[in-house]
Amino acid sequence: MRLSHLFAPTLREDPAEVEAPSHRLLLRAGFIRQVTSGVYVTLPLGLRSIRKIERIVREEMEASGGQELRMPILLPAEPWKATGRWDLYGDTLFRLTDRHGREMLLGPTQEEVVTLLVAGDLPSYRDLPVNLYQIEWKYRDEFRPRFGLLRGREFLMKDAYTFDRDEEGMARSYDAMFQAYRRIFDRCALSYVIVEAEPGQIGGGVNHEFMARADVGEDLFAECVNGDYLADLKAATPQPPEPAARDGSAPLEKVHTPNAATIEAVSSLLGMPGERMLKTMLYDAGGTTVAVLLPGDREVEEAKLERLLFPAPIRRFEDGDFAARGFVKGYVGPQGLDEGVTVLADHAVRGAGDWVTGANEAEHHVTGANTPRDFRVDRYEDLVALRDGDRCPKCGGQLRVGRSIVVGHIYQLGTRYSEPLEATFVDEDGSVRLYQMGSHGIGISRVLAAAAEQYHDEAGLRLPKVMAPFAAVVIVANRDHEGVVAEAERIYRELAERGVEVALDDREQTAGVKFADADLIGYPVQVVVGKRGVAAGTADLKLRADGERSQAPLADAAQAVVDLLETAP
Ligand SMILES: [Zn+2]
Repeated sequence: MRLSHLFAPTLREDPAEVEAPSHRLLLRAGFIRQVTSGVYVTLPLGLRSIRKIERIVREEMEASGGQELRMPILLPAEPWKATGRWDLYGDTLFRLTDRHGREMLLGPTQEEVVTLLVAGDLPSYRDLPVNLYQIEWKYRDEFRPRFGLLRGREFLMKDAYTFDRDEEGMARSYDAMFQAYRRIFDRCALSYVIVEAEPGQIGGGVNHEFMARADVGEDLFAECVNGDYLADLKAATPQPPEPAARDGSAPLEKVHTPNAATIEAVSSLLGMPGERMLKTMLYDAGGTTVAVLLPGDREVEEAKLERLLFPAPIRRFEDGDFAARGFVKGYVGPQGLDEGVTVLADHAVRGAGDWVTGANEAEHHVTGANTPRDFRVDRYEDLVALRDGDRCPKCGGQLRVGRSIVVGHIYQLGTRYSEPLEATFVDEDGSVRLYQMGSHGIGISRVLAAAAEQYHDEAGLRLPKVMAPFAAVVIVANRDHEGVVAEAERIYRELAERGVEVALDDREQTAGVKFADADLIGYPVQVVVGKRGVAAGTADLKLRADGERSQAPLADAAQAVVDLLETAP
């Protein structure tokens, strides 16, 4: 590829209002251009990288029994209503109406389509198991698209769906995908962790997320410093602290706490640390009141509460709820709550006593609150939001909170979709059974962005060779020098003959611009052919990964590039 003919517009300056390094560099290196918020053109360089990631994914999917098909993006609403996702997705779903007034949507995933497809055409146990996948653009109406390809409204995904006769088969298919995903992300040279995750909107049971480490990542996980525990932060369970050495014998006493409606205010007024306070958080769970008790210096992990009270929708009390249900905002305590209120306490509350908590009266708190004497707890549960430094549930060691980008997600769905869609097959004994399904996604465009997050420096991208758009570039440093042009052309030709994906920078630009662009785009190996080198009979080589420079005789330059590429990450 001659760069004089390539549509690869690089930017000298950082674009405005761009937060993530991957977003900034993919724009600057000419991989993508924004059309509108969260929607991008993939330029030739970006598309070359995307195609390489796709090839790895296809190879591993085919090796694991996957069969590629292609499903539509434009989908009818009815099956989505049958599975409940039409409502569950809320504003995130791109909805439209056709000229006949029929409701439709742009697919964010394809469970409904593929389930009906299989039920219609593979109705016998003899057809199973089957694993169908596609690589296609998906749509989500993100409230706030950001970070370029990391959270767009249009994104390229590989989605696979497995259909099995029974749960054992489903688990086998799941394991095959689990192993395939490891190979895919290993081949993509990503640094990643695998964590068991929350089910989310797709529903179902066992599921794992493949999370690429990244400082800008919005997906948090907890990791034990001793390496024996990893979990999605929203599902992570810290080991409860040792119960505080308070014997619970203090009498219940009311204290005047003017203008102290927050934990911080009470804490400083009474000169006691936040962990001595018993925080009482009130929620509405489908019409009933739920009180959540936890130490004053901790927060509720609402995802845990949601899962615990599923399917009731959870809503934290708003100002109007307090008065309407007889509570005093800022001064709520668990004493004397009526039987209609469910009282949940985090494990961290168990065993400790002599709490300071609200007196259920304006400007007053109580000290010496103890259970069961002064208040009841219906259940102790894991409800606390994990934080850095909490104790590992396996070994008691320190937990660290890590940031990541989810690049892959695999689910055991069971009959979550086959049941509402009445998708059945005839089993060997003649019985009619529901398919046991799995759903497995990889964010292809996200993998590129995640790799850009992990592989860059101040000068630009340095993507691993498996996904860099070209493996090498030959830079013509002096375009007006016949000998330089002839040698560069020859090395370029020889590299192409050896099967190296090579670009020739023959543009009418200064050598300085070409060097800067080569670093920005991140060709794993750069070859510079210039006047002085040609006079001396040498070419200059540079490995982008570590900036290491070397020289090779002009005649052997192509072989030297091939050898250097072997060592490139
Ligand atoms: Zn541990």
